[in-house]
Amino acid sequence: MRSFTYTGLPARVVFGSGTLAALPQEMERLGCRRALVLSTAEQAAHAREIAARLEKRAAGVFAGAVMHTPIEVSERAVTLALEIGADCTIALGGGSTIGLGKAIALRTDLPQICIPTTYAGSEMTPILGETAGGLKTTQRSDKILPEAVIYDVDLTLTLPPALSATSGINAIAHAVEALYAQDRNPVISLMAEAGAAALARALPRIVDSPGDSESRADALYGAWLCGACLGAVGMALHHKLCHVLGGTFNLPHAETHTIVLPHALAYNAPAAPEAVAALSRALGADDPARALFDLAGCLGAKRALRDIGMPQDGIERACDIALKNPYWNPRPIERAGIAALIARAWAGEPPVTDASCIDPSGGFPPEFGKIDAPTKNRIDPSGGFPPEFGKIDAPNKGP
Ligand code: NAD
Repeated sequence: MRSFTYTGLPARVVFGSGTLAALPQEMERLGCRRALVLSTAEQAAHAREIAARLEKRAAGVFAGAVMHTPIEVSERAVTLALEIGADCTIALGGGSTIGLGKAIALRTDLPQICIPTTYAGSEMTPILGETAGGLKTTQRSDKILPEAVIYDVDLTLTLPPALSATSGINAIAHAVEALYAQDRNPVISLMAEAGAAALARALPRIVDSPGDSESRADALYGAWLCGACLGAVGMALHHKLCHVLGGTFNLPHAETHTIVLPHALAYNAPAAPEAVAALSRALGADDPARALFDLAGCLGAKRALRDIGMPQDGIERACDIALKNPYWNPRPIERAGIAALIARAWAGEPPVTDASCIDPSGGFPPEFGKIDAPTKNRIDPSGGFPPEFGKIDAPNKGP
């Protein structure tokens, strides 16, 4: 028997097809009458359509959400929200738009209704990553967690297949790391296994037939579960590497996750037998790291960091940054192994599980799973490690 602690995050989820119609009721439930509708420029037309349908319940539209939540954009949106007397935000879109809604909530306490249209999962987390002066810092606060989430499968039908594939594997990454998290618990592990299975099942069908609403429903359901995992337990090596690589070389978020995930899992697999067993069941394969690499291939996703803009001489640099600050990981962070992992991901080679670190007696060398690094110190104001990968236990100060 293993002891555990489980904390449920308050979340209200409305899931289905045509659920966008529940928006006025959800506003009413929160006691809100004047919403500011948020989106990216690409989804502006849809945001305006929703505002028009809300009639006098919509106070305005801000269609300026962009990747990485720059604070200048958030401040412009806050100014508009205050000018028009908005009493809630409605974020229509992926992680970028939902991030903007969170940044507004942090500064104003305005309630948030999220309508996610990708699989990134931000709507289920109390985490916000913001960029100021080119530096991304991440924080966790109850103020950031959205009050209501409307998942409408119909709105995901337009998500292009390539983006669906990488966004879906980005979601699976939350499940993978939740399964070997330091603070994992049986409830979150159930969600992680079911979430990974739903996405792995749905994504190939979506790429073949993007309008298949059954598969879209499966994927969105999986994305919800995986997002809840990200919100509930701390992340480790994979999320940290993606953050370092994305931040250092300005690589695209979901594609970076897709490429790194098989390699990070292969690295951790020898020290995470329970996670490997759960993922083997979820993916229907003995070697889940290889299965994720094959899944990315079958979805037509890029599998090499060099193909998304990372220079070869960045391998050592990324390794230096990834080793700079201590953080918890099921397997100790060893330079040679991390350098080999990044080099393989750069070249697009299949993942290699390092069998040499498996104890021939069938157990694991005693250093595995050892908690030898502090789990705090996860915000590095110097920019070394934006800590989206881990929980921040310290009280949040806000910007
Ligand atoms: P995104 O929100 O940047 O969306 C990518 C593009 O796809 C945008 O142009 C968007 O308008 C468009 N799009 C979204 N849904 C669409 C649809 N259904 N049809 C057509 N186009 C659509 O991408 P993302 O991957 O969802 O989010 C990435 C960002 O979210 C990153 O900045 C990441 O750090 C953040 N994130 C944060 C958390 C958290 O918990 N704080 C979790 C996951 C991701």
